[in-house]
Amino acid sequence: MSLASGRPYLAIPGPSTMPDRVLQAMHRGAPNIYAGALHDMVNTIWPDLRTVAGTTGHVAMYIGNGHAGWEAANANLFSRGDRALVLATGRFGLSWADAARDMGVAVDLIDSGAAPISLDRVEAALRADAAHAIRAVLVTHVDTASSVRTDVPALRALMDAVGHPALLAVDCIASLACDEYHMDAWGVDVTVAASQKGLMTPPGLAFVWFSDRAAQESRRSDLRTPYWNWTPRSTGSEFWQLFCGTAPTHHLYGLREALDMLVKEEGLPAVWARHETLAQAVWAAFAAWGRGNPAIALNVADPNHRGRSVTSARMGAPAATLLRGWTESQGGVTLGIGLGMSTPEDLAGDGFLRVAHMGHVNAHMMLGALAVMEAGMQALGIAHGPGALDAAAAVVAGHPAA
Ligand SMILES: *Cc1c(COP(=O)(O)O)cnc(C)c1O
Repeated sequence: MSLASGRPYLAIPGPSTMPDRVLQAMHRGAPNIYAGALHDMVNTIWPDLRTVAGTTGHVAMYIGNGHAGWEAANANLFSRGDRALVLATGRFGLSWADAARDMGVAVDLIDSGAAPISLDRVEAALRADAAHAIRAVLVTHVDTASSVRTDVPALRALMDAVGHPALLAVDCIASLACDEYHMDAWGVDVTVAASQKGLMTPPGLAFVWFSDRAAQESRRSDLRTPYWNWTPRSTGSEFWQLFCGTAPTHHLYGLREALDMLVKEEGLPAVWARHETLAQAVWAAFAAWGRGNPAIALNVADPNHRGRSVTSARMGAPAATLLRGWTESQGGVTLGIGLGMSTPEDLAGDGFLRVAHMGHVNAHMMLGALAVMEAGMQALGIAHGPGALDAAAAVVAGHPAA
């Protein structure tokens, strides 16, 4: 017997669960791309996209995934041979560095492993660059592999204190519309995101927001090719220029619906607060489980450095992989693999898993997922401390245990 039949919860960190409303908005015949309702609808998307990122700057859309967003940012930021300083806190930061390197950018990498960035190391790297050869600092807001969250305002403050003129570019693919983010107030020049995580829309759209200064500096970038050039995409006077060809028509209808839900109905502060509470519930459960089994622990010790959209945790190998298998086949909850978390003793990463709490998730989904994990630990005989579900419920009820 399996208890998995019913509405599943895909709790891998992307693609995230999509609202039925978003899917229904996409369910329509092909619209005319030359005039009419599609143009009118797309005109309404730009202001809401700016609101989501907290900017009055420019925004470009691409048909593509998160990797396309990285490539778009790189193409507009750099010329071949330019220097980038990449601050990696997990697999995704390393991949952005790889993409830049493959495009001919000279990458200085500060690899923090799966831990928060040391600002001292960043300061030393910036001060060592007295000639200001580093054109941009690339950083991941929340690295989806480690679930480390970077303190972007602190990084900006450091760059200002050092007096380094590099542009600051932030990958918000995992965090946008989950974790609080204010591009302009935080002094960010370039923000990258994609549709399939906090934005609750199928994979297929990438977004790059950019400041006036980034727009200005991009004019000299010799990596800009026609498809990636963000200028016509953000200022094009003809509709086809906004997408460098046929618009991703159905994704745009889905995105419109998702932005209605996030920006116009729930409101971003409430969206952030929801993700904050759901994240706290997950952390409370892990804390209780860990009290009965020292192998169970969150990857990030300091709550200030934990992403609010995904939680990466260790359970000891092979418990994490066994539990993931059980929750999927018996409980309808698909948890994320431990990405980039293999160790010499655990080459397959069977000791790590990730719980996604991004996008269209609510209290019953999160408490249900935690309860299924608890059941799986019981069924598999994985040692765990008591009280995890009580602790998570107390967070949701608004009075967490001290
Ligand atoms: C998912 C993700 C990516 C990669 O996105 P793809 O759509 O898989 O290309 C990059 N960075 C972060 C932080 C992500 O969460």
